[in-house]
Amino acid sequence: MSRVALVTGGSRGIGRAICMEMAERGNHVVVNYARRSDAAGEVVEAIQAMGGEALAVGADVSDADQVAEMFKQVNSSLGAVGILVNNAGITRDGLLARMRPDHFDQVIAVNLRSAYLCTRGALRGMLRARWGRVVCIGSVAGVSGNPGQANYAASKAGLIGFAKSVAREVGSRGITVNVVAPGFISTDMTASLGEAAAEATASGAALGRVGAPSEVAKVVGFLGSDDGSYVTGQVWQVDGGLAL
Ligand code: NDP
Repeated sequence: MSRVALVTGGSRGIGRAICMEMAERGNHVVVNYARRSDAAGEVVEAIQAMGGEALAVGADVSDADQVAEMFKQVNSSLGAVGILVNNAGITRDGLLARMRPDHFDQVIAVNLRSAYLCTRGALRGMLRARWGRVVCIGSVAGVSGNPGQANYAASKAGLIGFAKSVAREVGSRGITVNVVAPGFISTDMTASLGEAAAEATASGAALGRVGAPSEVAKVVGFLGSDDGSYVTGQVWQVDGGLAL
């Protein structure tokens, strides 16, 4: 069955791979982005080239007005969102003693507040349809913590409490809410950390390597489909055995 899948931060990295996975599964895809309209447009073209339907929508998902406008646009052009992937995320790393308040606030706003705004925006249609899938992209940092990432880890741990609470609120209406927590995945976000960081992480993972965006997307695709119907309120770590 074809559904509308909205992927926040779908223009690059893990979000892009999730958009492609959602399209391969026959869904109509909304590719949200913050600034890179060129990258989002390229994802739309790639989906259309394989015979799928996609729409790029720019919105800063930490901003309530922009999120409301995005849902208005999606509802009128494609219909109600059935699958929401809260993927958009940023880092502003630094040791806590030197962490700037605005860097703390930005990370919480983009990584956690966005999930509240977008899930609330999608929920009405899901409740009406008595079917819905919400997948939040967390991080192993939100489960185990990570030095230099207190703001980021707090935002990702927050997503876990958020998902578990909403899962309990809406489970009786056929809506599941889960978290997928990746380890080290090769994207623009991790490229800035350098080759040495990738090698150090790879050697600490049971599988001995870093992950690819598509390896996260496959799990999100499952949880976002009918196949994931009896999984809710869970945290699925996709980390190659990094945080065992
Ligand atoms: P990238 O930096 O490669 O891509 C980030 C995406 O988020 C882009 O599409 C960007 O849009 C979008 N984005 C950023 N801020 C906003 C905003 N305010 N509103 C809307 N969209 C926004 O990140 P990754 O693909 O690596 O990460 C994706 C998710 O996975 C994040 O939540 C991240 O925390 C999580 N994660 C990543 C890991 C990794 O190893 N890469 C590990 C664990 C978790 P634009 O193109 O317009 O800038």
